[in-house]
Amino acid sequence: MGAKSSQRIRPVENYDSAHFWQGLRDGKLLIQECGACGLRRHPPQPMCEQCQSLDWTTVESSGRGTIYSYTVIHYPEIPPFEYPNAIVLVDLDEGVRLASQLRGADPDDIAIGQRVIAKLVDVQDDLTLPVFEIAP
Ligand SMILES: [Zn+2]
Repeated sequence: MGAKSSQRIRPVENYDSAHFWQGLRDGKLLIQECGACGLRRHPPQPMCEQCQSLDWTTVESSGRGTIYSYTVIHYPEIPPFEYPNAIVLVDLDEGVRLASQLRGADPDDIAIGQRVIAKLVDVQDDLTLPVFEIAP
């Protein structure tokens, strides 16, 4: 495996999702909110699924949420991830669900319903991702 293989595959950053990725680089976890009915949504989409409005704005997430579900990957170990690799589905307090990594926790200590907090991490050049830690 060469150096290239230890780089993450870059997420697709397009017209509809650019605000989310730029927000992370600016230190903000931005959640889309419908400008017509107020429904929040994630991942970013051009249209509201509830009222079909194309008008939207964003709210900045507190990063606080609750583990909805999780899995812990032990094998195979694929760079650049560290193992065991805990992947969580988090219900953010702002009302949307986000998939990410949970860092710094013993897999035996992870539980559904546990409170977590997002931390924005520069995982590589020009790529900032939200990862979660168990809330203190
Ligand atoms: Zn709407």
